Amino acid sequence: MIQIAVVSGKGGTGKTVITGAIGSLLSGRVVMADCDVDAANLALIIQPDIDTTEPFFGMDRARIDTSLCNLCETCIESCRFDAITRHEDYVQVDPLQCEGCGVCEYVCPSHAITMVPHTCGEIRTGHSRYGPFIDGSLFPGNGNSGLMVHDIRKRAREIAPDIPLILVDGPPGIGCPLISAVTGCDIVILVTEPGSSGRHDLGRLVTVCRSLRSRMMMIINKADLVPKGTLALQESAKEWDIPILCEIPLDPGITEATRNCEPFTRKKSQATVILKKAVDHLKQDLDLT
Ligand code: SF4
Ligand code: SF4
Repeated sequence: MIQIAVVSGKGGTGKTVITGAIGSLLSGRVVMADCDVDAANLALIIQPDIDTTEPFFGMDRARIDTSLCNLCETCIESCRFDAITRHEDYVQVDPLQCEGCGVCEYVCPSHAITMVPHTCGEIRTGHSRYGPFIDGSLFPGNGNSGLMVHDIRKRAREIAPDIPLILVDGPPGIGCPLISAVTGCDIVILVTEPGSSGRHDLGRLVTVCRSLRSRMMMIINKADLVPKGTLALQESAKEWDIPILCEIPLDPGITEATRNCEPFTRKKSQATVILKKAVDHLKQDLDLT
């Protein structure tokens, strides 16, 4: 099974819009997996019907049985995350602060603490006109996004084993969820836009992806917005030895399609023609024709 991740060094580059458009051009041969778990919105573009919604369990959380607790406060002293608070006649764990390390359970002399499963988000599966779909979102205040990304990718491989390709909409940035989204992918597509901050964020992303030995390609979005910036990106791509898959211009068709909650490739426009050519190239490269 081939896996492609679409990522960006920062938010707002049009990554999800481009992922939805690429997915639509691979219709019938792709599972789309939205791994941008802190702001999942690929579903807004491809409008899937949701078949299942399941809880996602992150790390276990500590729970204190107050009937066994002797208020010795050993757990409070041992918790590196300040997740346990002493009240007048009981101690309490804040589940949003608890990192699930289990130290308090280990040190409690009264065996009053147990680690229990904690629901920190949900994972949905469904299908769109382009193929199977999966996404996940964390509840506010919950971490474990890297773990959730890993789980979504694992489930994406399982829901349609006959489909040859998984297209991952990755999270922005270079943190744990990004690493979880690109590790093991055959191709990582870096979506960027002209501008000095875009180039800086892209540089950090390239460093991380390179350390993971990812094969990278680049898409420059809004390429005609700042010609000087695009030229600088072209030079950087050359320096990094990363091929530019395509340059997408500012196209009113993209804005209109996004407003209508559909991939821009459903209508013919300059951007559609350019992206179609790029996806044909990808298909050939990956032997998907
Ligand atoms: S270590 Fe155990 S007994 Fe001591 S305060 Fe914490 S929960 Fe209570
Ligand atoms: S499991 Fe770890 S982080 Fe959570 S309350 Fe216990 S010691 Fe603190």
